[in-house]
Amino acid sequence: MKKILLRKNISNRIQRGHCWIYNNEIGEVESAIAPGSLVAVYYHHRGFCGIGYYNAQSQITIRLLTRKQEIIDDAFFYRKINTSWIYRKKLGIVENARVVFGEADGLPALIVDKFNDYLVVQILSLGMEQWRDAIVKALTTIFNPKGIYQRNDVPVRTLEGLSLEKTFLSDPFNTNIIINEHSIQMNVDLSSGQKTGYFLDQQHNRTLIAPFVKDATVLGAFCYTGSFELHAAYYGARSVLGIDISDTAIEAANNNARLNGLEDICTFKVANAFDELKKRNQIGETYDVVMIDPPSFSKNRININKALSGYKEVNLRAMKLIRSGGFLVSSSCTGLVSSGAFMQMIESAAIDAKKQISVIHFLSQSPDHPIVVGLENTQYLKFLIAQVVDR
Ligand code: SAH
Repeated sequence: MKKILLRKNISNRIQRGHCWIYNNEIGEVESAIAPGSLVAVYYHHRGFCGIGYYNAQSQITIRLLTRKQEIIDDAFFYRKINTSWIYRKKLGIVENARVVFGEADGLPALIVDKFNDYLVVQILSLGMEQWRDAIVKALTTIFNPKGIYQRNDVPVRTLEGLSLEKTFLSDPFNTNIIINEHSIQMNVDLSSGQKTGYFLDQQHNRTLIAPFVKDATVLGAFCYTGSFELHAAYYGARSVLGIDISDTAIEAANNNARLNGLEDICTFKVANAFDELKKRNQIGETYDVVMIDPPSFSKNRININKALSGYKEVNLRAMKLIRSGGFLVSSSCTGLVSSGAFMQMIESAAIDAKKQISVIHFLSQSPDHPIVVGLENTQYLKFLIAQVVDR
């Protein structure tokens, strides 16, 4: 294994446990290193740092796999994936679960999602791609899945010099499956649904709306295939309207409503949420509960203020639609928007909407997406439930 020596005056981020090493933190490189291969990393004072995989083409040139002097082989990947699975079992999140959440599980750039008997794998770096066979072998041993699908259609792969691809890692199977989430059935398309087919990161949060939606009139914007909206109906909402700009998402949402016999309670409509919320406010409509779950508004720091003003706009429009004493359920999946910035945005929207806000829950992703302190990219979701009262 080739050796790498880190520069002298680098931040102590790496020492504290962060597994990314940027190219400007690398001092000496032993000799030409094959892209994607393992390297042994040493601090400038020559103390051992860890073993990781190397890609000179990537800004994140090394991602560390271990801080121990240990052998990285098929057995290593089995141990790591099995440890992640044991943690999910402890949490009681087993039927549908994020089995591996990349850096948070010590397997940087690897995502594995389990949807009942099927697995979806996403590999985001060249170094991790070298270990695909070991990963598939471990997953097959641990889960004996009915099928494994690979969703490598993520643009971030191009930063690693990798192509985008979607393929089977098992015998081909019908990727349209039905999952069961809290007694609600959802059609999930593993090959073309968003992310790895479904937003597993909101799984726990969906249960938290139960007390607020009972007997309520509910509006859900950015509803995608209707997961929050069907939960609302299942938990006893009087009526639910879901809005999304995508007609395929709305078609899927309608199918999901029928699948659960909730089509009399749930109506879904193709519309731009920004326009639709404004229009409904102008004609004097109000709801007991408004839920919004917009897409990421920014992938880079340059557009962060633009993203925040988009969030403020849509939260303000949502708040205006809530009758005094009703509830706002508001999410943001833009990782670069911190919890603090999100809450400031909510406060600013409330001031402009002339509302008083009482926070009931302010959370992040489901616990099967663990947040590691110091690994900032492991905390990306903001999830708020608040009571909204007229001022
Ligand atoms: N709440 C969903 C996930 C929402 S993802 C769940 O838990 O499953 C964000 C959704 O916003 C996508 O379905 C996308 O089609 C939709 N969207 C993006 N821009 C929009 C807009 N301007 N108006 C309405 N929907 C929009």
